[in-house]
Amino acid sequence: MDDALIIVGAGHAGGRAALTLREEGYAGRLILIGDEPHLPYERPPLSKGVLQGTADLAGCSLFDNARLAELGIEHSANNLVSRLDPQHQRLQLADGQWLPYAGLLLATGGRARRLPWEAPNIVYLRTHDEALALRGALRPGTRLVIVGGGFIGLEVAASARSLGCEVTVLEAGPRLAGRVLPPVISAALLDLHRRQGVDVRLNVVLETINADAVLLVDGERLACDLVVVGIGMQPNLELAAAAGLDVGQGIRVDAYLRTSAPYVYAAGDVCEFRLGGLYQRQETWRNAEAQGRHAALNMLGRELPFEAIPGFWSDQFDWGVQTVGVMTPLMVSRPLPDGGLLLFYLDADRRLQGACGWAMGSRAAKDIKLCERLITAAIPLSEASLADPDLSLKHLLRGRYAPISGVPIPVGHANRAGPP
Ligand code: FAD
Ligand code: NAP
Repeated sequence: MDDALIIVGAGHAGGRAALTLREEGYAGRLILIGDEPHLPYERPPLSKGVLQGTADLAGCSLFDNARLAELGIEHSANNLVSRLDPQHQRLQLADGQWLPYAGLLLATGGRARRLPWEAPNIVYLRTHDEALALRGALRPGTRLVIVGGGFIGLEVAASARSLGCEVTVLEAGPRLAGRVLPPVISAALLDLHRRQGVDVRLNVVLETINADAVLLVDGERLACDLVVVGIGMQPNLELAAAAGLDVGQGIRVDAYLRTSAPYVYAAGDVCEFRLGGLYQRQETWRNAEAQGRHAALNMLGRELPFEAIPGFWSDQFDWGVQTVGVMTPLMVSRPLPDGGLLLFYLDADRRLQGACGWAMGSRAAKDIKLCERLITAAIPLSEASLADPDLSLKHLLRGRYAPISGVPIPVGHANRAGPP
């Protein structure tokens, strides 16, 4: 048996796994196969800096060709893995060639969900090349209709407005980014986009799209030059499913990111793992980064359970939303300067489970980092202390503040001069 470790999918998770394998001392044959023409890159800039002209592929790449050669990673680009044969520990490339593996990571990510209509002016955004093509079409005065008021839709809307386009966003649901963000943040996003001149419509049902317009079921016709569709992502799990691996909404793994086939792991957007007792996928940079690294460690025999705290961010205009952990029914809100907000999510014992920050620029980033430490610390917290904007989270973390019982003791009050 050839002792190669093979990674299918040269995206963020796959690229991070390859780097980790080498950094952790794996010296054997390492093959990274991807169907895109590029070295692994991060996708977040595609809807932001790449569209705005402030970021390029080199800046998004996890490593360059020199580093690839230095690390001895065999990168096979423009190559689709078409079949997996876990019984014989081998996979097949589109040209028919079979490759044996000692260990395999499936990091096949996902693709944009598509609308049923085809028209030359409809574009999707998942890859760097799609971002470049879209960027070329965004000029002052371009009439852009965006289908989907999720992250792609809103980030493209913000980038396109900054380039002087006329932008309409059509969202099927009653609020923006409704599946992943709390209502108060959806409302803040709606207000921000409308203030910036984006025509946002909610509860919209499309009739069809033709070469120069989007037609709605209520009869309205929205003339446009371009339609960007951001209606979600479909995991690339067909390879695993056809090979008989256990799949649900993604490729199912155990706590060690092992799939149901021996020596086969999964990571990133395509990976369905247990979080808080439920199988789910995370479609985030942070998850691709953490699972890519984690799967690599376990491929080297570390046997570490995957226990990372989830989180993501989105930048739109000069505002940012950032989350960490999970949202629970018990929410406490703290105001931040300039109309920003910090939301805390507690369990029944008043331990922090998650947080969501909404602020100008990256002003919530520090607080969200502290929230992550509070989640890990699992200290019971009073709702009053969390709601108090003058009380520093650092002090809560240091336990210098009375926990849930009764009146807060202001020993850690941020506004107090000198030590308590
Ligand atoms: P991918 O990056 O999709 O990589 C998978 C790779 O595998 C792809 O290149 C695919 O073509 C390839 N592949 C699939 N099947 C095969 C096969 N059979 N053979 C060979 N190759 C194959 N997250 C955030 O947290 N914050 C953000 O601001 C943010 N912005 C984003 C902006 C955009 C425009 C997009 C699209 C995503 C954004 N994300 C963001 C999400 C984040 O980028 C993804 O969660 C992350 O890229 C997932 O990484 P992955 O490696 O699992 O999958
Ligand atoms: P998304 O975040 O799932 O949002 C899709 C949105 O489109 C949802 O609000 C959905 O509403 C709506 N929608 C679905 N069908 C529709 C239709 N026919 N007409 C109008 N609206 C419709 O997906 P996305 O924005 O396309 O993003 C794709 C992937 O990229 C995801 O994995 C996402 O996480 C990732 N991404 C992440 C970021 C970030 O984290 N900052 C940025 C960009 C992209 P319902 O929910 O009501 O169905």
